[in-house]
Amino acid sequence: MPELPEVETTVRGLKTKVLERTFVDVWSDWEKLVKKPGNFEEFKRIIKGKKIKKIWRRAKNIIFDLSRGCSLLVHQKMTGHFLVGTWKIEAGSWKPIGKGPLSDPYNRFIHIIFFLADGRMLALSDARKFAKVELWKTSELLNSQEFKKLGPEPLEKSFTFEKFKEVLLGSPLSPRLRRVKQVLMDPNIIAGIGNIYASEILWRAKIHPEKNVAKLDEKELKLLYQNIKKVLSLGVKLGGESFSDYRKPDGTKGDFDTERKAYKREGQKCQRCGTKIKRIKVAQRSAFFCPHCQKL
Ligand SMILES: [Zn+2]
Repeated sequence: MPELPEVETTVRGLKTKVLERTFVDVWSDWEKLVKKPGNFEEFKRIIKGKKIKKIWRRAKNIIFDLSRGCSLLVHQKMTGHFLVGTWKIEAGSWKPIGKGPLSDPYNRFIHIIFFLADGRMLALSDARKFAKVELWKTSELLNSQEFKKLGPEPLEKSFTFEKFKEVLLGSPLSPRLRRVKQVLMDPNIIAGIGNIYASEILWRAKIHPEKNVAKLDEKELKLLYQNIKKVLSLGVKLGGESFSDYRKPDGTKGDFDTERKAYKREGQKCQRCGTKIKRIKVAQRSAFFCPHCQKL
């Protein structure tokens, strides 16, 4: 699933490609992806003629602020990713025009296309079809419960070590009894961290994924905080990971894979100590760690 680095990479890519462009039409063969408004014809009617004024990210959401006070929100969920290019229908499915990275097999699951006034298209490829597309009044989106509940953005300057400790340990909804990996992945505590980067952060901080956050000492908290910033920034710098379905808006792969130390490396040697990486379940999700470097 795309996490903060992948969503940020998408947003940065889209900014260079589709800002100030106008939607002229929308096509979909899986209208259920559009959750709001529930009626696809209504969605189409509203989106037509709207210009993209701003593209930004909050947690794992991509938001296009449009003309006339509208916002288009997309959560890519498991396998969704945006692509910009031109396609044509061939034997019932969309094929990219011309050769290039858009022909990557992971880019062929096109279920929504936004047609732009300049002739190009903004397409959502989504193999599992779990993505969420919603149209909001911008003011209502910013004031929505879903947005208000979200935790701080870990790459922002305002996410200081004090702020980190406060959200991790100090809130009235204290996650004191929860395991660190689960806490890291809770978007209402810290926004944007999912399964891949949680395992990578914990490996680098040498903390066991099941360690109770209340039992982390000051040194461990500092290491955890520093590695959240470090790993996510590195992910953004490298354009995200692409051993899953994720691709950048031009269809190419991100380069984080070379930095992957723990995630889906079970049975392989830890790059620090040579012990085999283990996989366990924490709150129904896989966690990958080195049993020697990350002791409980
Ligand atoms: Zn190790």
